[in-house]
Amino acid sequence: MEIRVRFAPSPTGYLHVGGLRTALYNYLFARKMGGKMILRIEDTDRTRLVENAVTNLINSLNWASIDYDEGPDKQGDYGPYIQSERLDIYKNHALELVEKGFAYYAFDTAEEIENMRRNSSETFGTKYNRETMKNQFTLSKNETQELIDSGADYVIRLFVPFNEEIIFNDTIRGEVRVNTNDIDDQILLKSDGFPTYHLANVVDDHLMKISHVIRGEEWLPSTPKHILLYKCFNWDLPEFAHLPLLLNKDKSKLSKRQGSVAVEDFREKGYLKNAFVNFIALLGWNPSGDQEIYSIDELIESFNLNKVNKGGAVFDVQKLDWMNKQYIKMLNPSDVRNDLKEILENSFHKHFENQYIEKIFELFKERITFITEIPEICPYMFEDIKHYDEEYMQKRWIDGTSEIMSALLQEYQLLDDFSHNELSAKTKEFAQSIGKKLGDIIHPIRLMITGKSTGAGMFETMELLGKQECIKRMKFFLETKPYMKNE
Ligand code: GLU
Repeated sequence: MEIRVRFAPSPTGYLHVGGLRTALYNYLFARKMGGKMILRIEDTDRTRLVENAVTNLINSLNWASIDYDEGPDKQGDYGPYIQSERLDIYKNHALELVEKGFAYYAFDTAEEIENMRRNSSETFGTKYNRETMKNQFTLSKNETQELIDSGADYVIRLFVPFNEEIIFNDTIRGEVRVNTNDIDDQILLKSDGFPTYHLANVVDDHLMKISHVIRGEEWLPSTPKHILLYKCFNWDLPEFAHLPLLLNKDKSKLSKRQGSVAVEDFREKGYLKNAFVNFIALLGWNPSGDQEIYSIDELIESFNLNKVNKGGAVFDVQKLDWMNKQYIKMLNPSDVRNDLKEILENSFHKHFENQYIEKIFELFKERITFITEIPEICPYMFEDIKHYDEEYMQKRWIDGTSEIMSALLQEYQLLDDFSHNELSAKTKEFAQSIGKKLGDIIHPIRLMITGKSTGAGMFETMELLGKQECIKRMKFFLETKPYMKNE
């Protein structure tokens, strides 16, 4: 059997992180099994249409390098892959079920349905009561036909039998049992001629030869209805695998209210694609106990649907940040150069040499979670110091420091070689000669040259800034004496 899976989002304007996880697991499974992945757009709910939603969605998938084989923008034998372009197919299938007696016409108005719900019946509860409402069962054949011919609004509903046990197997959850008494006579075709999700989804999964339906747990309650449909059409069932819910840290269902859920927001915040995908891949599954960093090839290699957890997976932004940090450290300076250049030139409105940018990245990469943090953490690498850390200055600039630093400045001025090794050796020697610890010396140097209390290696920073700039800053500090401001 050919393995064919699909990612079937409804285009709501953005790709939800849960959607990305579903897409990714489908992708990993397809690649692992040597199968095909299909992107199908489920846009039959006309009330939820959003402009550019499909383009946004495809952009987010492309960004994450989730490369499907067939889809709206890719050739395949089973398209079109946009449901609104397949309306006739669904209608014909709904009619086929009516003909076979598995579905029926119903003509109730929204008001009538509401009334019915208020007066729940013993047999049907708040479900659709096909014995009292306006439909094929309560109307004669002629009345039904007349209504249809007169252009009256109608829907087609699935006839759900009483008290039957629906049993199916879920790869992740095992056996699932639902009694049909808990299932409504689901609308299959709406009065606007569009199918509901249930009909379109099942018809397409069958026609597109989907072998495995891998989707979020929120669709589990729909599956019994789908099983009924497969039975009515006399079609073979695909395998089902419902992925665990994504949760907030407080274990509530992940929602917009507690932070971003759109993939594009994370992308904009500066998360690296590989870090984000790695993090998403581990929401519900981990190939081994302690490894956290996986390349996409490793993920494909070890993916196993049977090993996906049942329990909800916490979307822990701190862990995502940690992951991003790990990936930042692994980047080659040349990979980030262009992005960083753009960030820096936008922040400081001047031009920077490629080589300088790459060296900056090398020096500061251990200290950042996002590349966008570089202008904030070391502005002094790109412009004059605008502000000296007041507290640090009070603590580190004590009596005698000015004299010591003036002497050190003279030493530095004599240096021909301003490499960090030479600077380090010279400064150590100097500290020793005046009976101080290197640490005591470094703090005031840092203050004069960066204005900040922390930073990357001091001598590496100085080497990168260059002798002229360092001397200039030291002189400026010693002459303007910012530490005396309040005296
Ligand atoms: N259109 C559904 C969604 O928006 C697809 C559910 C499924 O995969 O069956 O997620």
